[in-house]
Amino acid sequence: MNPKNTDLAILGAGAAGMMAALCAADRGMHVALFDPFWSTPNNLELSGGLFPAAGSQLQSMAGVDDSPGQWLADLRAYAGSSVNERIAAPVAQSLPQVVAFLVERMQMPVRFLADVPAPGHGAVRFHSVTPASGPALSDCLRRAVRAHPLIDCRVDVVVSRMERAEKGFELIDAARHTHARQLLLAGGGFGGAADMVTEFIPEMSGALHSGSPTNDGSVIGMARAWGAALAGMDGYQGQGHTHPGGHTRLGMSIPTLGGIMVDRSGQRFVREDIGPSALAAKVLAQPGQLALEVFDAAIEARLGNHSAYAAARAAGRVLEADTLEELARAAGVPAHALADSVALAVQCAESASGSSDPLGRARFAQPLAAPYRASWVTGSLAHTQGGIVTDGEGRVLMADGQAIPHLYAAGGCAAGLSGQGGDGYLPGNGLAQSFGLAFNAVAAMAGD
Ligand SMILES: Cc1cc2nc3c(=O)[nH]c(=O)nc-3n(C[C@H](O)[C@H](O)[C@H](O)COP(=O)(O)OP(=O)(O)OC[C@H]3O[C@@H](n4cnc5c(N)ncnc54)[C@H](O)[C@@H]3O)c2cc1C
Repeated sequence: MNPKNTDLAILGAGAAGMMAALCAADRGMHVALFDPFWSTPNNLELSGGLFPAAGSQLQSMAGVDDSPGQWLADLRAYAGSSVNERIAAPVAQSLPQVVAFLVERMQMPVRFLADVPAPGHGAVRFHSVTPASGPALSDCLRRAVRAHPLIDCRVDVVVSRMERAEKGFELIDAARHTHARQLLLAGGGFGGAADMVTEFIPEMSGALHSGSPTNDGSVIGMARAWGAALAGMDGYQGQGHTHPGGHTRLGMSIPTLGGIMVDRSGQRFVREDIGPSALAAKVLAQPGQLALEVFDAAIEARLGNHSAYAAARAAGRVLEADTLEELARAAGVPAHALADSVALAVQCAESASGSSDPLGRARFAQPLAAPYRASWVTGSLAHTQGGIVTDGEGRVLMADGQAIPHLYAAGGCAAGLSGQGGDGYLPGNGLAQSFGLAFNAVAAMAGD
């Protein structure tokens, strides 16, 4: 079989792989995009589809003063020493360019979301398409890669053999032998590989996995066999707002807007503003691994751009009540304890001298008021953050810091922006790294 030559082969057609394919094709490169699980929803499709781009033109036109530097400062304040400084600044710089690329070159309906605040972010800076959701964003990218004449979509095809050759890579599937000058690994993380989760993230061993089973760690294993270094393997994005069963979730913004969480006894157990990832382990530690998220109709009215919430609402996951007694009855928690928890939150929100929350929460936003809403949630593992070590241009590095020639990685298979355990994951880090590193990698390939 004569090999078909291509400039770039990509393993994985998710957030990172499709972004890289479009960037490369836009530069005139021929791309072969491989994905054996195209028909199974990947993490991009399961995601909220919300990505930060501090300093984008769309954000600036909406009157928000922000910059890549401010986002980096937020990331460092939130994640401390777990920030992956090899990639953080280059990714921050690339994100406004990613938005411009999608809007101007790909004609995608990407927009700035002025009404999506997120824990740990000092400015509103999330972007998405309409509706703001993972499926809609995935659909836009899929349609674009399918339509591009320079992208050969080798999907639902298994690459049975892959070898490094002197001048690139050989990839063999049932129908074709492909020779690629460059290879980008974009096969996702290892949240779907229970053995790897047990090995690297013991605290989430056996926990509900709300991510895609296609994140099977296979591409990380491949890179490891070629000598790539791995880093941050204990990092993960948890989800402390997941519904039991894992099919729906409330989304990240309810605590930022003033919601609280109580356990089965109606008592608060955590400062709820620590972020959805850090909340996962805290919720899992409660009796029954459950927490009741309590909010109100005013907060619900501000969740218009939150597709995750809309899906949960449609699935009947949200309780409604006109009084706290009614809410306590519907949820099955002691009414007096729930009333005390809400009263303290109201007092903290109304206090002119700042919150005196015994759990340390600084901001409660608006005081909770009738009519009320509530929903029982649990903690889950959404996706993993550890993986292949790269530089800020996505070049795969070995333990001695040398790059493996012509080999790149981005997305869940590559070491993420931050995270030791679930605490260092700043909302939006997943797509930020996937899009930013893929964008930078393609720019670097042009000079490689
Ligand atoms: C529930 C949930 C909500 C989330 N919400 C957000 C959010 O709102 N904002 C945010 O920034 N991040 C979010 N994330 C994280 C985000 O989805 C991921 O960071 C992102 O999708 C990673 O991109 P990826 O391309 O690496 O992985 P994916 O999008 O999962 O794509 C990887 C692809 O690789 C393929 N693949 C696997 N093995 C191979 C192989 N051996 N060869 C070839 N292909 C292979 C898979 O089939 C898959 O299509 C969320 C994640 C989850 C699970």
